[in-house]
Amino acid sequence: MKRVALLGATGSIGRQALDVIEANADLELVAAASGSQPIDGLAPLTQVGGDLTELLERAKPDVVLNAVVGFAGLPATLWSLERGVDLALANKESLVAAGELALAAQERGGGRILPVDSEHSAAFQCLEGRAEAEIDSLVLTASGGPFRGRTRAELASVTPSEALAHPTWSMGPKVTIDSATLMNKGLEVIEAHFLFGLPYERIEVVVHPTSVMHALVRFRDGAALAHVGYPDMRVPISFALTYPERAATGLPALDFASGLILEFSPPDEEAFPALGLARSAGEAAGTAPCVLNAANEVAVTGFLDGALPFLAITEIVERTLSRVAAPAVADLDGLVAIDAEARRVAGALTRELVH
Ligand code: NAD
Ligand code: MG
Repeated sequence: MKRVALLGATGSIGRQALDVIEANADLELVAAASGSQPIDGLAPLTQVGGDLTELLERAKPDVVLNAVVGFAGLPATLWSLERGVDLALANKESLVAAGELALAAQERGGGRILPVDSEHSAAFQCLEGRAEAEIDSLVLTASGGPFRGRTRAELASVTPSEALAHPTWSMGPKVTIDSATLMNKGLEVIEAHFLFGLPYERIEVVVHPTSVMHALVRFRDGAALAHVGYPDMRVPISFALTYPERAATGLPALDFASGLILEFSPPDEEAFPALGLARSAGEAAGTAPCVLNAANEVAVTGFLDGALPFLAITEIVERTLSRVAAPAVADLDGLVAIDAEARRVAGALTRELVH
């Protein structure tokens, strides 16, 4: 039996994780948390809001599935890595914002990161056991989101409900908007850098509208391994929770008779500048990825609330990055201060644009 603590149990990933746990007799849900929705009785230990590491201390899980959205997931990520507890990581924001602190915590505590993000789960499976020197490059696929093919001018007036209509994945609102701006893929490039220790110039993005191929790794001998499967998050969730085994899920296998389409094209970085912005923040290192993430969280909320136009999301992120100093920090308190400063600046920029 593996004892699972599920953080973000009421969200899109959280609910799919409940299905996976329910269907697998070897997984036991020992604790569950949500941000604000009541979850009494969902698990032996539950918590709504507050410091999630208190729940983890009491629950003593074998694996923490961190499916909280945003920077709020960071303490649980660090807790798991520091204590040598397996971390099934959906909460990419924590690794983006705190990659260096997370790797240091992992170094000390030995916690393993088992990626739940579909592209990173795919890459992890293609890469497993390979030395960095054998790897040429990693390719993450992007569906392109609901606005694939549109020009920048055509994006000026898109609405939250249009942006929330993702063509291939059904996800929570924040990551769905990130997919529409391509910031999601930018965050994933940074996530991949920290997960796999590859320099940014060896992490590529390609647009692949049907989301069947999730990632591809090129090796130095000219071979490339790709991971394919229907877009269903229960597959990477199950893989992370049952690793190193691969449990049955009952989900359908790929069917060649139903018209599989594997098409690829380069991302349009002019219409979707968030991707390049994220890559630059990753390359700048220090706390630039933390600033990028914080500004993006504020701007996405502004867009979803109807206060900001779509194109303002990336604009606010860019302007916040240019205004907030982003030195490397040694601890969580230092990072929390940078995150707060970036939110303050992004909030002020949002109010300027609204008035
Ligand atoms: P969601 O909005 O559907 O759910 C978020 C969950 O986090 C909810 O249970 C909410 O109650 C909880 N939460 C929010 N703030 C909290 C706080 N302060 N303390 C405790 N809990 C809090 O989001 P989602 O789509 O499930 O995404 C979760 C994470 O997984 C995100 O980081 C996202 O980028 C990542 N992810 C999601 C998908 C997907 O298919 N949904 C795919 C890949 C990665
Ligand atoms: Mg992803």
